[in-house]
Amino acid sequence: MIFAKQALLSSGWASGVRLDVTQGTITKIETQQQAHAGDVTVDTLLPALANLHSHSFQRAMAGMTEYRMAGKDSFWTWRDLMYKFTSTISAEQVEAIAAFVFLEMQEAGYASVGEFHYLHHQPGGMPYDDLGELSSRIASAADVTGIGLTHLPVLYTYGGAGQVPLKAGQARFGNSADQFNALVDKAKNAVSSLADDCRVGIAPHSLRAISPDDLKAVLAARSNGPIHIHIAEQPKEVADIQAWLGARPVEWLLANTDANEDWCLIHATHMTEVETKNMAQSGVVAGLCPVTEANLGDGPFNGQAYVNHGGAFGVGSDSNVLISLTEELRTLEYSQRLRDVARNIMVKGEGSVGAKLYCGAAKGGAQALSRQAGDISVGNLADLVAIDSTAPALCALRQDQILDGLVFAAKDTVVTDVWSAGRHAVQTGRHVKRDEITAAYTSAMHALVASL
Ligand code: ZN
Repeated sequence: MIFAKQALLSSGWASGVRLDVTQGTITKIETQQQAHAGDVTVDTLLPALANLHSHSFQRAMAGMTEYRMAGKDSFWTWRDLMYKFTSTISAEQVEAIAAFVFLEMQEAGYASVGEFHYLHHQPGGMPYDDLGELSSRIASAADVTGIGLTHLPVLYTYGGAGQVPLKAGQARFGNSADQFNALVDKAKNAVSSLADDCRVGIAPHSLRAISPDDLKAVLAARSNGPIHIHIAEQPKEVADIQAWLGARPVEWLLANTDANEDWCLIHATHMTEVETKNMAQSGVVAGLCPVTEANLGDGPFNGQAYVNHGGAFGVGSDSNVLISLTEELRTLEYSQRLRDVARNIMVKGEGSVGAKLYCGAAKGGAQALSRQAGDISVGNLADLVAIDSTAPALCALRQDQILDGLVFAAKDTVVTDVWSAGRHAVQTGRHVKRDEITAAYTSAMHALVASL
């Protein structure tokens, strides 16, 4: 049993909360209780967020792309450097990096991850003997860390809008729709050995990297699981899609697919007001990655209009340049404040911004990863995070201010415990396998850097 001095339940804050977890699911919640002998006792229990968008291997590049070169740096020059990495990285390194990244996510308070996985083949582009080799590596990394994995193999067929052939740096990503469907089966096989909460979805990379016919084919072959797509990250991408398909990316997707609650649109950054309203009302989740979107110079999300139209959203760490749950949420709000020269933007009407951001991202993230989670209630997965409300950053706050304190005034170090579907991976602020996973990561990084 877990005992929390206070907990944010689906019905609101409660004190003296005892939770029973059976096979990863919350089976009983009692309030106004005392801790019993043998209970895991924590201070403040919250629903843990899903990190809905990650390319784990990109963590290896963090800090290597912040040097100003002659000429103008952009998303596209960053991408060229990323391709250099993907030309070299080995299967063992992919696994070691992913395990460390998942560990960092759990220590930051995330219970689960949507791994948007597009590195499929050997250096040069030949498939591995096992087409799903690198999916298996991601599954192994999830297994060792205990994180709740929603694995999202990526269909990546073209080098640019209009069915431009893949470039050399993209060779390890490429699949036809048929080969992709075979790869999804391999990924399902790899993930089947993990706990029941782990699953597989699909991720058509972006409208620029696929064709409308291939999109139709992979959607028709899909049996279940979420559908993720990069949608409108860069103005150039919007212009290219408009020139090719005659509509802006969000506009095109909403008109040409049954975009609904199964879908997550990553980086819906560049939208008109009409697109914003239609997307919010479609039921899809906006997959926002505020730290990466700031790092890459993508631009701010149209947040207030989206929230006012009732749109669902969640957050992801995307390039993993920095893995911090609190930083993602506050960067989302701060990007709005800087653009609008105003404060307290991401709330419809009145209310706590921290609570809206945190609880909104908990619900939207769970939806995007197809997890029965997002709040603490009987029948939901035990995706839980405990924080220390007696820490200096939070100790002066009322119960109804704790999420504002967490989002705007605290660091992830206030996290004491994390459970991923009941797997108690972070205890007293440290992942239980921190030493071995960190050692494997460090050694993989030395080898990778030496090979560049
Ligand atoms: Zn991405």
